[in-house]
Amino acid sequence: MLALRKPHPAPGLLLCEVPEPTPAPGEVLLRVHAVGICGTDLHIADWTAGYGHMAAYMPVTLGHEAAGEIVVLGEGVQGCAVGARVTFRPSTACGRCAACGSGRPEDCADRRGIGIHRDGAFAAFVSVPAANCLLLPAGVDTELGALVEPLSVGLHAADLAAARPGARVLVLGPGPIGLAAALFAAQAGAEVVVAGRGDAARLALAREAFGLKAVDSLECAPTSVFAGYPPFDAVIEAAGAAAAVADGLALLRPGGVLVVAGIHSAPVGLDLTRLVRAELRVQGTYRAPAGDWQRVLAALARDGERLRRLITHRLPLAAAERGFALARAGQACKVLLLP
Ligand SMILES: [Zn+2]
Ligand SMILES: [Zn+2]
Repeated sequence: MLALRKPHPAPGLLLCEVPEPTPAPGEVLLRVHAVGICGTDLHIADWTAGYGHMAAYMPVTLGHEAAGEIVVLGEGVQGCAVGARVTFRPSTACGRCAACGSGRPEDCADRRGIGIHRDGAFAAFVSVPAANCLLLPAGVDTELGALVEPLSVGLHAADLAAARPGARVLVLGPGPIGLAAALFAAQAGAEVVVAGRGDAARLALAREAFGLKAVDSLECAPTSVFAGYPPFDAVIEAAGAAAAVADGLALLRPGGVLVVAGIHSAPVGLDLTRLVRAELRVQGTYRAPAGDWQRVLAALARDGERLRRLITHRLPLAAAERGFALARAGQACKVLLLP
């Protein structure tokens, strides 16, 4: 089968033929219907700093935002059936460390990622632990299923921003994670503004598809764009740009929180004087707790057609290179590959 792989710890990806996987005990084989290209995949392709931990697992097939149909059950799998439509949590716990032993797999000391440390879903088939699979409810097709992972990251960011009625939340970066965070913050009742720098296509999507207030801060720094606004209770940084961190801190009310969801490929300087005097908090966010996945599935069952508009491009796996170029150029929101 064709697979999109990271062959070496250096820039670049390789589209090549690999054998179809067989599911290990406790795992299921999925026929992949849809898999999203994530910002993480772009960083891995470009080989920016912070992914050295992958080197020992290469060559590895990427792809961690996927959904499909179970076609084979590995030995000992219970509670899953052939033909079921599922998505999967890409993060696997080791089952052996102290945290796993005491029932806290979320704190596992040896987490591995499907599509990062073991073969993922940029391929026709992927084998994943049955315990990581979630059934898609009726009305949620596998294309929407591929959105569950990025939506869960956005939901968790909105939760960490304490989005609620009356709260003012600014989202910096109108990519899939930023828009997902903005949508869940708005759903929680917050007053939400999305901002981006020279990101006209995705800001237009935020306005037209989702009715979000969206501003382009290319011409002037957000600090001056927002000069007339009261400061924000929370800023969600989903741009992965140092400037967004600085802008975010500058735009917070005293006691406010900057939720950092962006992947930063270099250390970022902080205005700690402002942080100290205004008692600001900086909160990182990366992976949603398992329970959030069910909340996202419920949101998709309720509001799937609206959330589907996050998907702007659908391409065959063979056109992965074009998909990556689209995602990188900021013309696309979510690009799906359909193996
Ligand atoms: Zn992702
Ligand atoms: Zn563990």
